[in-house]
Amino acid sequence: MSKNVNYFKNCPVCGFNEFISVLNNKWKNSSYNKCLKCSLIFQNPQESIIKTKSRYNENYFKYELENQHNFFNLIKKTMDDFDILNILPEGASVLEIGSATGLFLKYMNENKFDAVGLEICRQSADYGKKNHKVNILNKTLEECKFKKNSFDFIHFSHLIEHLNDPINFLKIVNDIAKPESLIMITTPNSSGLFARIFKENWRCIVDDHLFIFNKKSLKILFKKTNFKISKIRSWGSIPKGKTLNIIKKISDHFVKLTNTGDVVCFLLKKC
Ligand SMILES: [Zn+2]
Repeated sequence: MSKNVNYFKNCPVCGFNEFISVLNNKWKNSSYNKCLKCSLIFQNPQESIIKTKSRYNENYFKYELENQHNFFNLIKKTMDDFDILNILPEGASVLEIGSATGLFLKYMNENKFDAVGLEICRQSADYGKKNHKVNILNKTLEECKFKKNSFDFIHFSHLIEHLNDPINFLKIVNDIAKPESLIMITTPNSSGLFARIFKENWRCIVDDHLFIFNKKSLKILFKKTNFKISKIRSWGSIPKGKTLNIIKKISDHFVKLTNTGDVVCFLLKKC
């Protein structure tokens, strides 16, 4: 049991050694800390990914399948916003980490790119291969051992907050990315407006999230792992069905304009 638990003495992003305990009202025995320097929120101690892997089962697959078009549409919106398809070289090699059922890979292949995906939920990977005819490996990034300078575009959405060691993960991403490549990363943003308003009841506070980043901690993380920031976008406010459509529309528009949404997306390049 003990070998599957990691304990941090220093902030895993900025290295500072002073934390406070947070989210105590949500979970009585909360093990969440907030770094007093970069405001990163992180589970401490945290379960190893070895145990976490078993969560990506049949139920997870059903959730991914039900939501595949919603999730893909959000990715596509950001891709359009950054004009990715027009920036990438012809026939670019693309890697997606956390491909779910593979709609993003299908979209990239349809646009004449050469896409491969990784997905640790076996059922989701099998579904994508069979139904969308895409190349999905049922492996983690660490298991793949891709060669250096392999990819023109690397994408992962709602993944990095689930990992035990985001720094090592990003170092591998940096290694396998080509010198002129683009990296697009989306994750919840605790510096957003509704995160500040709802605090413990904010929709992104779920116990599958080992890390809850904010823009400041992400900037430190990317600098540490040799990335430079090209563009930042933020979106997302009140979930569908929780308020009148008109109020949702106004609040969605406001957080997008002020870059203070529930989610933040960084477009990165290698340093
Ligand atoms: Zn910190």
